[in-house]
Amino acid sequence: MKYDYLIVGAGLFGSIFAYEANKKGYKCLVIDKRNHIGGNIYTEKIEGIQVHKYGAHIFHTSNKRVWEYIQQFAEFNRFTNSPIAKYKDEIYNMPFNMNTFNKLWGVVTPQEAQEKINEQIKESGIMKPKNLEEQAISLVGKDIYEKLIKGYTQKQWGKPCNELPSFIIKRLPVRFTYDNNYFNDLYQGIPIGGYTQIIEKMLDGIDVQLNCNFFDRKEDYISMAKKVVFTGMIDQYYDYCFGELEYRSLKFETEILELNNYQGNAVVNYNEYEIPFTRIIEHKHFEFGIQPKTIITKEYPATWKKGDEPYYPMNDEKNNKLYAKYKELADKEENIIFGGRLGMYKYFDMHNVIEEALQTCIKEFGENDD
Ligand code: FAD
Ligand code: UDP
Repeated sequence: MKYDYLIVGAGLFGSIFAYEANKKGYKCLVIDKRNHIGGNIYTEKIEGIQVHKYGAHIFHTSNKRVWEYIQQFAEFNRFTNSPIAKYKDEIYNMPFNMNTFNKLWGVVTPQEAQEKINEQIKESGIMKPKNLEEQAISLVGKDIYEKLIKGYTQKQWGKPCNELPSFIIKRLPVRFTYDNNYFNDLYQGIPIGGYTQIIEKMLDGIDVQLNCNFFDRKEDYISMAKKVVFTGMIDQYYDYCFGELEYRSLKFETEILELNNYQGNAVVNYNEYEIPFTRIIEHKHFEFGIQPKTIITKEYPATWKKGDEPYYPMNDEKNNKLYAKYKELADKEENIIFGGRLGMYKYFDMHNVIEEALQTCIKEFGENDD
């Protein structure tokens, strides 16, 4: 066998694993079916602007170890995500905070805002939220739900809010302060020079083969290494033997515009259902760019079918139960490790993936002594 590890997927999980294994002296081969490394965090410089090719990626974490780890590979800028939500002709600040409440109801103090929300929660009669709709109303009341959550969420996930799990909306902070920071985390920023350099540094000196789909030569690939690290779809690995997991896909539409500032903010959400995209990102604002042109990307949610990119796992009860069956098979494997957003079927952000990858490395190689 030529390699100690075959790593399927040159995304964040696979690349961290490869980097740590290589450091310990193990020989790795990384393959990816795409024509580039980086998976969904891939960025590309166009017109002097770092373009996030698979949607806005803002790094945030409260885990000091994760923050220090990622900074070995890039310096981060001071970007703070403060999206704007557009509903018809109205503009609101996100996440839900005193600025949002003031614009919506004219309330000025946290007490007034809380009273308004409590009134709406009381009217709804919801005691124990059972789904995303009920969870949202019991967090921020009916007005915000109707304008800023209902349409956006339904188009994002392709299902009505009362058929979706509550945890999705709990990702967003609700604050009774005038603070537009989308995240509560201690550390936040965008790598100066983009994300791809991070993966390039991780994979430096390691064998990488692009445009290679593991499933085209599954047995060959498995026979090349003592162990496999698999970061693709776990249900596909097992040939969908228990049935297909559900995913949500996206389509990205990117344009170069002959003006220097299109929307004045990195992320603008489009919250009405009738507009088919969920957000427009203007890449230069992630890095305070002053280039003469600008580049924008519209993000359209899409139904996933085999062959499409599975951007989001659908972590509802039905799919989580199905995943548990695959996980049972995976736990019995001695020579295969499943990792990352697709291998573990979890709505992970980058910091979660780093935590998981480092945990996996500790299990595999022991604690790092450097
Ligand atoms: P991936 O990046 O998906 O990498 C898996 C790799 O495996 C891919 O390159 C794929 O091509 C390859 N692969 C799959 N199957 C095969 C196969 N059969 N053969 C060969 N190769 C294969 N996180 C944040 O922290 N902040 C954000 O702001 C943020 N925004 C996001 C916005 C969007 C639109 C999306 C989709 C995700 C966002 N994330 C964000 C999450 C972030 O992208 C993920 O946490 C991270 O990229 C997952 O890394 P991964 O290695 O698990 O998976
Ligand atoms: N969401 C919403 N309105 C918004 C932004 C987000 O209703 O203006 C909901 C939506 O259901 C979304 C979830 O909050 O899927 C999580 O949002 P986040 O920005 O974390 O989504 P991601 O960046 O992962 O797509």
